[in-house]
Amino acid sequence: MRWLVAFLTIGLGAQGFELAVELTPEHVHNGETLKIAVHGAARKARLDRRTVELFLQEDGSRFGLMPIPVLEKPDMYRLELLSENGTIVDSRPIRVENAHYPKQNIVISRKIASLKPSPGEQETVGAFRKTVSPVRYWREPFEPPVPGCLTSLFGVGRLHNGRPTGDYHAGVDQRGAAGTPIHPIAAGVVKIVQKWNLRGGTVAVDHGQGIESIYLHMERFAAKEGEHVTTSDVLGYVGSTGRSTGPHVHWSLYVNGVPVNPGQWMKLEACPAAPKRHRRKAK
Ligand SMILES: [Zn+2]
Repeated sequence: MRWLVAFLTIGLGAQGFELAVELTPEHVHNGETLKIAVHGAARKARLDRRTVELFLQEDGSRFGLMPIPVLEKPDMYRLELLSENGTIVDSRPIRVENAHYPKQNIVISRKIASLKPSPGEQETVGAFRKTVSPVRYWREPFEPPVPGCLTSLFGVGRLHNGRPTGDYHAGVDQRGAAGTPIHPIAAGVVKIVQKWNLRGGTVAVDHGQGIESIYLHMERFAAKEGEHVTTSDVLGYVGSTGRSTGPHVHWSLYVNGVPVNPGQWMKLEACPAAPKRHRRKAK
């Protein structure tokens, strides 16, 4: 999905501060990210009880990212910009439009279905997603971690062997032969390098100021925790470890801890429709 042309509004906020606010895209859907650029006194932004930081940029402006969760109800909301002490300095209506994510049935064996997370697996990923670090390493455009097409799209409602799971695909599955190098989508710091039961060989990268990415099912690693990486570095290699039925990379983009559609940030092509009996990847 392409960013729509930005619109710029200049006005007096509730407290009489002059604010210039730029929001992109103009039409935001559930599962996407609202980019907020501000010149003026705003320090945080709030939408439907979620508050995000607006970070100081090199040009003196503030910039922050409001994730709209996949499960957010398409509706009218208010975006509120807050000062240092929490006063609302600007408020404007935001319509969250329905992305209409499809549903997908996954055929998985009992052995794969019964896999349990490793001790600490869920907690480590949970703590990683909660972290928002102030230094910005990322810049656009982001790059796909491998060249392959998408075998499963973001946001798809998941059924396992015909049974609804109540969950959705929180990342994308990208085709790649075993051993294909996996690159980070942007510069950042490697925070997780782990072999886990569910996710298999996992590497997670903090790109700063609310952007994080995680890559699963690797057969081996090329990066170490704490390492600074750029898009030319290799994190690890495509495998089929953990809850996976064939070599591929499942990866997720988190914005302030919320999985969002990476297709908004880079060009990703869906693979030509697979035959019905083809077993899709499970994670
Ligand atoms: Zn996946």
